[in-house]
Amino acid sequence: MLILCKHRLLGATLISLLVPVLASIAEAKKLNVVTATTDIAALAHEVGGDRISVESIAKGYQDPHFVEAKPSFLLRLQHADLLIIVGLQLEIGWLPPLITQSGNSRIQVGAPGYLDASQFAEILEIPTGVVTRAMGDVHPLGNPHYWLDPENGRRVARGIATKLGELDPSDASYFQERFQDFDKRGRKIVTYHNSATNFAKHFHLDVIGYVEPRPGIPPTPSHTIELIGLMKRENCKLVLVEPYFDLKTPNSIGAASGAKVVVYLPSVGGEKQVTDYFKLFDYDIDLLKKAFQ
Ligand SMILES: [Zn+2]
Repeated sequence: MLILCKHRLLGATLISLLVPVLASIAEAKKLNVVTATTDIAALAHEVGGDRISVESIAKGYQDPHFVEAKPSFLLRLQHADLLIIVGLQLEIGWLPPLITQSGNSRIQVGAPGYLDASQFAEILEIPTGVVTRAMGDVHPLGNPHYWLDPENGRRVARGIATKLGELDPSDASYFQERFQDFDKRGRKIVTYHNSATNFAKHFHLDVIGYVEPRPGIPPTPSHTIELIGLMKRENCKLVLVEPYFDLKTPNSIGAASGAKVVVYLPSVGGEKQVTDYFKLFDYDIDLLKKAFQ
């Protein structure tokens, strides 16, 4: 009994000694990611979570075409496991010499630790003819300011998650899960009728169910119960109702599931101030913004 206690004591001591060591190993194991811009860093952070450390060379208030190369950037690049650039020659005026001077073989062009994020994005304005300086700041490979399309943000995030998984296979599923969360975050909705399908596609909402059991069929108690269960499982927090439907069933669904019930407008004129096609989207986007906050 005494021996057992001693062992226990020894075990406990060993564990308490090992915990900081293990923590620092985990810390050291973090992938060191450097990005050219803050937007790519933000996307990398979304999927990389606490398994990476990430820093952007350019600041968000700087013109990404012209970034002043400070010596501290070089140090960051020397220790990077992964460099992610916007690409399409956005950084051509300042980044290539830094990559070379870093002497870091992991992040040289074509190395596994070099990732050009533009390969994942939909690129607009790819010139077809000859590009000359007289045309101004025309990027010969297409418009590199692609990150301002959230759909491209989604694609880039997925590409980064895959790359992080290649560099750190033991955390590959963690990165994929983080991407799935990022992709779906806060965007699950239920609508009364299936009137918001195109709207949802454009604004990347995930319609998981309808108050109507089938299009045009009024709610039934059994379907309502099923829907409440589904919403709880999927953590769906929003029910959109067209203004011409009764709010009784949606409100009871909202009360039972903890979701907010909001009347959205599928048509111009649904509210007095919604007088044209543009105001319709202004109205509904504003409504969604408030509802998801
Ligand atoms: Zn530009």
